[in-house]
This record gives sequence, structure tokens and C-alpha cells, in this order.
Amino acid sequence: MDDLALVIDLHRDGARQGPGGDEETRLAIRLSGLKPGENLRIADLGCGTGASALVLAGALDARVIAVDRLPAFLERLERRAAEAGLSGGIEPLAASMDALPFDEGSLDAIWSEGAVYNLGFASGVRAWRHFLKPGGVLAVSDLTWLTRQRPAELEAHWRQEYPEVDTAAARMAILEDSGFSPLGYFALPEACWLDNYYRPLQARFAAFLSRHDHSPAARALVAAEQAEIELYEANAASFGYGYYVARRSGD
Ligand code: SAH
Repeated sequence: MDDLALVIDLHRDGARQGPGGDEETRLAIRLSGLKPGENLRIADLGCGTGASALVLAGALDARVIAVDRLPAFLERLERRAAEAGLSGGIEPLAASMDALPFDEGSLDAIWSEGAVYNLGFASGVRAWRHFLKPGGVLAVSDLTWLTRQRPAELEAHWRQEYPEVDTAAARMAILEDSGFSPLGYFALPEACWLDNYYRPLQARFAAFLSRHDHSPAARALVAAEQAEIELYEANAASFGYGYYVARRSGD
């Protein structure tokens, strides 16, 4: 089994593949001003197994096009949607977020929790803007510095892994410079990382390792995930996920 197949096998049973929370998705919906019953068409980019897509479809009675490049995650999302009675509101789409098949100005909102880093924050928000109707909503969570001073080691780590990591103010400036009016910002609470993402992930480690006979590749993946968890636990005051909600402004 190759490394990507192992990542899929470790993560597909998760309710989410990154930090987040249903309450926090609902908070972003409130900040967006979107209301149910408006026949909304929303794309959830990098949806994983559907954490935010399911909340959006349920809370807004919207048509959610759930986009991920991994069909295995979309299959899980379809099963969860059926269990929640939300199949009618969710349309899974296996596609890459840098080659989206949407028409110009065709979406009421674009959601993306913990996935824009695959394009980089600035490139992502600029590339996605034209798919939104004028006044359409962008809601994105992404790695964010929470303090002005950071431990040097931490700074070096994220500069290497995600060079675009920055403060909320810098991200807001990117949004404004890219044709968006910010509507709101909040930082995800630690529980979104620990209770909702990392602890359930750690609880799957033992079964994952035995499914793969403790292969070197499986052990290396678990060790990398564990190192990421420890980095977060040691530095939760300095970095987290910021949730940015903005509206497409006039051209
Ligand atoms: N939004 C989900 C998943 C976040 S993890 C959640 O919060 O739980 C990031 C997701 O982005 C993964 O599901 C991964 O498969 C997907 N992804 C990575 N690169 C992608 C790309 N180029 N196009 C579409 N999806 C991508």
C-alpha cells in the first residue's frame, strides 16, 4: 500500500480530517448572513468526509456541492449524508480545487475548512472569487499565527511546511486586496483541535497499525501524526486555525 493509500485508510473513518467543529461552522454561517430557504448553491472545497458539508446542508437547507480529490472520502460523506437524511442536499464531486468545473458567478457561497493551504491562502481566495455571485460569501479556515512573537523553532517549522502562514490582520488584508469585504473572523478553540480531531485520530492508531501489520510505512505515518499533535499541544497559544468570513465585493 502506498503512502497516500495509508493516509486515506487512517483518515477516512474520521468525522473530520482537520481541526474544526459543528458549532464553529454554525458560527461562520451566522457571520455570513446566509439564511435557509433561499435555494442556496454552496461549494465545500476539500470537504473530506463531510464535516462542514453536512452542517451546511442541514442548517441552510442548501444544495452543497462537496468537492474533494479523494473519492474514498466522498464515499464516506455519501454514507453519512444518507444516515442524516441529507442526501438530497449533497452532491459529491471528485475534482481538484485548482480546476473547478463551476460557471462564473454561479455560487452563493464557497466554504473550505482546513483545505485552502493546498493552494495557499492568497492563491486560493483569488482563484475562487469569480465563481461567486456578486455579494457571494467566502468562508475559509486556515493556519494562523495567534501572537506577534513565536518560538523560533515553531516559526521555522511552519515556514518550511506552510510558508504562507500569517496573522489574521495579514489575511484580512489579502481578502481586501483580492476583492472581498471581511464579515468576520474568529479563532477555533483548542477543543476543535484536541477533542474533535486529534483525540479521535489517536484513538484509531492501534487498529490502523494492526491492519497494516505494523509496517514501517504505517509506523512512520503514525509517528508523523503524533509529532504534529505534540507540536500543537506545546504551542497552542501561538498558532491555530483562523476562520475568515467575507463577501465578494464589487469589481
Ligand atoms: N474540510 C475537511 C477536510 C480537511 S483536510 C475537514 O475539515 O474535515 C483537507 C482535504 O482537502 C482532504 O480531504 C484532502 O483530500 C483535500 N484536498 C487536498 N488537496 C486537494 C485538491 N487539490 N483538490 C481538492 N481537494 C483536495
